[in-house]
Amino acid sequence: MNTLNHTHEAAAKSWVASAQGHADFPIQNLPYAVFCRKSGHEAWRGGVAIGDEVLDLAALQAKGLLSGLAAQALHEASQSTLNAFMAMGHEAWHALRIALFDLLSSSASEATQNAVRNCLVPQTEVRYNLPTQIGNYTDFYTSIYHAENVGRIIRPDDPLTPNFQWLPIAYHGRASSVVISGTPFRRPMGQAMPPGTKAPVYGACARLDFELEMGFFVGPSNALGEPVALKDAPSHIFGMCLLNDWSARDHQFWEMNPLGPFLGKNFCTSISPWIVTMEALAPFRQPFERPADHPQPLAYLDEASNRAAGSLDIQLSVAIESVAHRTASKPASRISATSFKHQYWTTAQMLTQHTVGGCNLQSGDLIGTGTISGPTASEAGAIVELSQGGRVQVPLHETGEQRTFLLDGDAVIFQGWCEKTGFARIGFGSCSGTVLPAIS
Ligand code: CA
Repeated sequence: MNTLNHTHEAAAKSWVASAQGHADFPIQNLPYAVFCRKSGHEAWRGGVAIGDEVLDLAALQAKGLLSGLAAQALHEASQSTLNAFMAMGHEAWHALRIALFDLLSSSASEATQNAVRNCLVPQTEVRYNLPTQIGNYTDFYTSIYHAENVGRIIRPDDPLTPNFQWLPIAYHGRASSVVISGTPFRRPMGQAMPPGTKAPVYGACARLDFELEMGFFVGPSNALGEPVALKDAPSHIFGMCLLNDWSARDHQFWEMNPLGPFLGKNFCTSISPWIVTMEALAPFRQPFERPADHPQPLAYLDEASNRAAGSLDIQLSVAIESVAHRTASKPASRISATSFKHQYWTTAQMLTQHTVGGCNLQSGDLIGTGTISGPTASEAGAIVELSQGGRVQVPLHETGEQRTFLLDGDAVIFQGWCEKTGFARIGFGSCSGTVLPAIS
């Protein structure tokens, strides 16, 4: 587990003016992405966000300012994917964080500032790619509030499945349809069984939904047949991003019994470009606790450091921007807000559960946490919950519109950030995607 150090101090300042008090990317954050300039035909390479700029790691590498492990880490982080950098592990990640912090700190020498200034690219001038070659994508289901809300719609008498409180449930997802934020997607076609009908129909999804999730990326791999113990799980997690597990509810609910989600989930999954490292998130860790009358985790899913600091307080919000919003230049309408701290299982427990049978995780694999819904109705992380299965209209106050499910032209925008007294606020930026009409 990461410990706090001088890179977390609230008083730390950067010579990059826009980083001071930046809502997402002050010097205390230093998240990674893969980017290139929008213009020209540049190669993809790693970058680090600082204020409104991207620090171009390939350009920095060419300057030869670093040495030792930090230089080796910079070499891997400047590549077109971050898989090799993630495989290096905590010691290398930490070395590069310290080195980048020193280069960007207001105490850096004039010569250093001049050299590094040449490696900055305004974020408005770049586009992003997926940060890794994602070999595998797994999606968990770890919010008890989401499980109860959705369970009530499917099984009103028995909303929570018997296994939920005993293990972090997941399914193996589809890596090929994971896209970077900003990529639009077609409303999926598929088969559904409308209520009150006797035969299924084939057509465009009528119940299109989002799922507010976080994703995390696997660092060092584990060998096939060698589980990762819970105490070691944090060292296998590089960092986190925002994730939208777009869902075709009508297709999903008809097809998923008995083998789980298939076409209802595999048409698109959006992730934010910036990965916030677990070291940057260290100040926002908090105890993992279970109510006394709930089952406590079995021994292999229970461990002192997970109990002490396994949970993370990450604030999250969901907004819809419709065609009407864009036409009238209105800001997107916020429809939900919650925190990741309410999840029933921690990221470490998810990683350990994934490997306990011997499954080998690979560096750069993406793992979704499952929909994040908080304890109150306004904290729901999917529109099927907010609209109670389509029975209640969700208001979009800025335009006077309403939604039960998503319409063509709707963009769904997630934002995530961490705030705590005594520490600088850091953020994930945003994750967005726009629904295009189906091709029938
Ligand atoms: Ca999901």
